[in-house]
Formats: sequence, C-alpha cells, structure tokens
Amino acid sequence: AQANIGVVGLAVMGSNLARNLASRDGNTVAIFNRSYEKTRGVLDAHPEAGFLPAETYREFADTLAKPRTAIIMVKAGAGTDAVIDELVKVFEPGDIIVDGGNALFTDTIRREKAVRETGINFVGAGISGGEEGALNGPSIMPGGSDESWVTLGPILKSIAAVAEGEPCVTHVGHDGAGHFVKMIHNGIEYADMQLIAEAYDLIRRGTGKSPAEIADIFAEWNRGELESYLIEITAEVLRQVDAATGEPLVDVILDQAGAKGTGAWTVQTALDLGIPVSGIAEAVFARSLSSKPAQRAAAATLPGPSAAWTVDDPDAFVEDVRRALYASKIVAYSQGFDEIVAGAAEYGWSIQKGEIAKIWRGGCIIRAQFLNRITEAYADDPSLVALLTAPYFRDALAASQESWRRVVVAAAQAGIPSPAFSSSLAYYDGLRADRLPAALVQGQRDFFGAHTYKRVDRDGTFHTQWSGDRTEIEAQDTH
Ligand code: NDP
Repeated sequence: AQANIGVVGLAVMGSNLARNLASRDGNTVAIFNRSYEKTRGVLDAHPEAGFLPAETYREFADTLAKPRTAIIMVKAGAGTDAVIDELVKVFEPGDIIVDGGNALFTDTIRREKAVRETGINFVGAGISGGEEGALNGPSIMPGGSDESWVTLGPILKSIAAVAEGEPCVTHVGHDGAGHFVKMIHNGIEYADMQLIAEAYDLIRRGTGKSPAEIADIFAEWNRGELESYLIEITAEVLRQVDAATGEPLVDVILDQAGAKGTGAWTVQTALDLGIPVSGIAEAVFARSLSSKPAQRAAAATLPGPSAAWTVDDPDAFVEDVRRALYASKIVAYSQGFDEIVAGAAEYGWSIQKGEIAKIWRGGCIIRAQFLNRITEAYADDPSLVALLTAPYFRDALAASQESWRRVVVAAAQAGIPSPAFSSSLAYYDGLRADRLPAALVQGQRDFFGAHTYKRVDRDGTFHTQWSGDRTEIEAQDTH
C-alpha cells in the first residue's frame, strides 16, 4: 500500500494532525519520527488510523505515492532545517514538502528558495488551533507556489475547520506569506488575551465581584458582539476552582505570563515595516513585565493613588468595560491588518484580506463572529486604508469611545495598569487627530541634526539656521 500524504514529527501536533488526515475519506497516511519509539507509540495507540510507519527517511519516501506530499510538524528552527535536509535527499522534483510548524516567515522565504532549486516544492503553512485544532480541524494558512496549492489545496481543505460551511484554509500568497499571516494571527491573539485580562482586572478591582461572578459576565458577553473562543474560555478559566485550596484557580496561578516568541516576532517585524502595532506591542510587553519578579518586588513600595477607588454604579462600569474591550479589540485587528498590508507590499504577496478574516472564523484561537465584519468591510472596499474607518467599525467606535475614555481615566486614577486599553485609545486619538505634535519633533530634529522639515503652506524642504541668525533657508531633501 502507498500513502498519499505523510507526516514527519509525531509529538502532540504531528500525531493529532496525522490522525485528522487519516480520518478523512481517501487518505492513507505515512508517519515518521526521528526517534522510532514515538512512531511505535502512535501506531499502537491508533490502529484505526491505518498508518503506514517508516523507520528511515528513505523508507518514508518509498511509502509515499508520487508526487510525494509530506507535512513536517517538528520543533521550529533547527529541527525543521534538519528534517528538510533529510527529505530533500530522498524526495524528487515535483514532490511537496510542507512545514506546518511555527516558523519565522523569513526562514520560510529562505527555505522555499533553497528547496526550489532542487525542483521540490516547499510550502510554509501556518497551522493554528493547538492540539485540539490539529485533531479536529485547525485554521490553516499556507504559502508556497500556485503549483503546489493545486495538489495540497484539497488535502488541507479536507482537514481544516469549517466555519459557516467553508473550510478555514486559503492559499495566502507565495513563499513566506502563510507563516507571515500566522505570525500576525498570534500577535492579534496576544492583544486579544491581554485586553480580556485587563477587562477582568478592572471589573474585579472596581466592583469587588468574584471570579465566578465575572465568569458569568464573560459568558453573557459571549452572547453578543464580543462572541469568541477567547471570551468563552475566559469564562471557563474564571469559574474553575482549585481542588487543593478551594480558591478560584486564577488566584493560585503565578501571575507571570510566558511567551514562545511569535508575539515578539509580530512586533519586531512591525518595527522593521514602520507599522504602529501599539496594542499588540503592549500585550507582548505586559507579559515581559509580569515575568520580572525582581523588578516587581523592588517597585512594590512605590506609591500609588492616595484615595481608595470605588465604582458607584457597578452595572454601568461593567458595560463601559465591555465597550472599551470591543473598541480596543477593533484597534488590535486594525493594526494587525495594517501589518499584513505592509508585509504584502514589502515581500510582493497578493493577500486577500477578507479571505484571511474568513479562515480565522474557525479552528484558530482568535475565532470570533467579529471576523465576518472584517470580511464584509474589505468586500465593500478592497482598498480600505484602515480597518477601523470602515462604516461598521466607525459606528462601533462611535458607540464605545465615551465608555472607553471613562475606563482609561478610571484605571489611571485607581492605579490599575491597563496598557493595552490605554495605548489602543491613544492610537485611536492619534490617528484621528487633526494636528499632531510630530511638528514639534520635526522642529527638534531640525535643531540638533539639520534634518529639515516640510511646511504646511508651501512645497519644498526647509531648514532654520538655528546656530546662526535663525532665518529659514530652502534645503536639499537629503535627510
Ligand atoms: P515540539 O515543538 O515539541 O517538537 C517535537 C518534535 O520535533 C518531535 O517529533 C521531535 O522528534 C522533533 N524534532 C526535534 N528536533 C528534530 C530534529 N533535529 N530532527 C527531527 N525531528 C526533530 O512538537 P509540537 O507537536 O508541540 O509542535 C510541532 C510544531 O507545531 C512546532 O513547530 C510548533 O511551534 C508548532 N505548533 C504547535 C502548537 C501547539 O499548540 N503545540 C500550535 C501550533 C503550532 P523526537 O521525538 O525524535 O525528539
């Protein structure tokens, strides 16, 4: 028997993806793992899958029908490079190697270029949804060539999550486009999680409600415009009681958030592209700050507000927080899509923004009703310059912005950190401002570095002779 698809790497993601593939009609799945014990384990645990195991890369290649298609699910980085090196030795021109790990998109661009020289196709595919998604249907963001998509498309469609009848997979763009979009997905996920955490913290400290009571609030929110997987699981986490102490679990979890780096990549890339993803950046930094116990201990004695904080009308406050959360969430997505647009321009990808929002509706961590509104916004106006200015989002922000301001003011006065709420609001106000103090920054730059400036009333580039008689001269625009 020959397999039509293979999986390399049988840790939690790879084995679940292999089982997902095997459960679809018409698939026979070859499996390979560097250490054979894992292959043996998967084989023994899932006889129903009919896996074809291989002990060596050569045997793996021989087990696959041509053109061969294999999905790599190994530790991102050196592990991926090691597997590619081995597969390239045993595969032939026309075969397809898919990297489903969390690769940095620039690595994918490099690998695609190198593998293409052998005549083998290389596809970097972002896969989101964790282990559960891999098993039951993830959201899949493949890059790579149009040629490989012809073969790969039907296979990926068969295993992807389904949202409103449509599979959550689309050919994102060439080479690293898929992993780039997966990176942005994770950046938005960081922001979404931080915003929800800030909402919880403000409600708890402002109203004194218990985690279980706040769980009910989130469950209620999940029936409205905030409906999403992250809001849903937040309610579950807040309701959980620790068996050992009888306390809410959230109170016994150490308050230091970890990170595996994809949020930081989103921000690093945004800095390179010059895109202000401030809400996402604050979410990444909030995790870094939480994980600095020495600094936190040293700063614990610094003074806070002198007056105690109480909320007069808890119901009204909770509603303000809900609106602040929605508005900040719109900002985070708008910033993420700005980065997609900038990345597509920089790397020459043709990315359909509305399609990206569609494939995030199921399977992945940021799945939400809200994504339909993004698809509609780009369908109505494909050249939309900023998502938050689309009519639906403009109306939502108009309805939320007073609440948003009240929440940020209350947080600042109460000394409750809300970096993602407040920076999202600052972004909103910055973008809509008629004049920005950037004019003064230009003046400062011209003063100390003769960096020149432009004027609002005349074309040309100017410099004030600060160290001389301070008259203005027309300058060459060289800075
Ligand atoms: P791990 O990231 O823990 O990687 C373990 C697997 O990598 C094992 O199969 C291991 O083989 C293999 N491996 C490591 N180095 C090498 C090497 N040099 N040569 C061959 N094989 C190697 O596995 P996960 O299942 O957690 O994740 C797989 C990929 O999926 C990663 O890229 C991850 O970032 C990504 N991902 C993970 C998600 C998650 O929720 N966990 C979600 C989305 C994506 P061996 O058994 O021989 O050690």
